[in-house]
Amino acid sequence: MRLDKLQGNPYLLFTPGPLSTTAGVKAAMLKDQCTWDEDYNGFVQEIRERLVGLATKEIRDYTAILMQGSGTFCVESVIGSAIPRHGKLLVVINGVYGRRIAQIAEILNIDTVILDDGELMPPDLGKLENVLKKEPGITHVAAVHCETTTGMLNPIDKISEIVKKYDKVFIVDAMSSFGGIEFDVAKLKIDFLISSANKCIQGVPGFGFIIAEKDAVTGCKGRARSLALDLYDQWRTMEEHHGKWRFTSPTHAVLAFHQALLELEEEGGIKKRYERYRENQQTLLKGMQDIGFKSLLPLEYQSPIVTSFFYPESAMFDFKEFYNRLKACGFIIYPGKLTQLPTFRIGSIGDISAEDVKRLVETIKQNIFWK
Ligand SMILES: *Cc1c(COP(=O)(O)O)cnc(C)c1O
Repeated sequence: MRLDKLQGNPYLLFTPGPLSTTAGVKAAMLKDQCTWDEDYNGFVQEIRERLVGLATKEIRDYTAILMQGSGTFCVESVIGSAIPRHGKLLVVINGVYGRRIAQIAEILNIDTVILDDGELMPPDLGKLENVLKKEPGITHVAAVHCETTTGMLNPIDKISEIVKKYDKVFIVDAMSSFGGIEFDVAKLKIDFLISSANKCIQGVPGFGFIIAEKDAVTGCKGRARSLALDLYDQWRTMEEHHGKWRFTSPTHAVLAFHQALLELEEEGGIKKRYERYRENQQTLLKGMQDIGFKSLLPLEYQSPIVTSFFYPESAMFDFKEFYNRLKACGFIIYPGKLTQLPTFRIGSIGDISAEDVKRLVETIKQNIFWK
């Protein structure tokens, strides 16, 4: 295919990842690199440093590890490497991604307790405390920051307070929030934070990363239940070989991610990016409500990342048809993932502006054939 065709970008993605990336990020991939090359490994080291800098002011206490695969591979790497043979994991669940953590633990034969109050409420903190009180054998607690299933932003600070009151290791899936919402992993006493290249940092898919407290990573030595997903060994290799990955790394995706980090800084950092996402989300919500759509979550739980909307009540509404019409106009939205309620989702992250959101809403208005 000719280059000018490749550069044409037919769709804007209103999804929580992969998402629309800038021309700069895509252009960064037009170089081939060797995985053992010093310059390439230098990019990797710079990425690791920048990630720690974005995650905390306590940069000496934390380290960043990059891991091949999608976000789930990174979650599996942490769950499979952090919990010792006789450890026990508590998973706080209110959506698909929390359930996925429990499923990973089950497959890895890890003793697991779950706290699941359905998809529409934030975790019950009283229950969380009770479980930790009653089951002193629990060693690790895992929770999801932004539950992308619904768009709910979980109260990670309050969860952390309880987890640390009982002195447990705290694992956070911040896949869809890191880079788009400001917080400090040291302040929140997070031991392992997991995120992915193709979410709020606005890179392309291919790998994810873990930001971990240094002693927590060294504690993983010899615990891994998988060779390829051994978090400790991946970290040790990156440290000892100055940015070299153990196995073939997604070089093009890594270069794109490096560029994405530079662009995040140019935009003004996480605070500014948060403001843009929030404006996108507020513009979206207002526009959709004006058309007559109802959103799923009460405002107090709603993240600036992704919003779930109920299907309109008309029996004429067909999501597939709706999706295809928007796609034909250049907009990709996201199906729902709730187990019970008929909803679809629209993301507000990626290289999109409030103007793009307004165009999407206008297009939706013109395609509400169910009226
Ligand atoms: C995207 C996402 C993941 C990872 O999903 P992959 O498809 O493996 O990239 C995990 N947790 C949350 C909350 C997510 O949004």
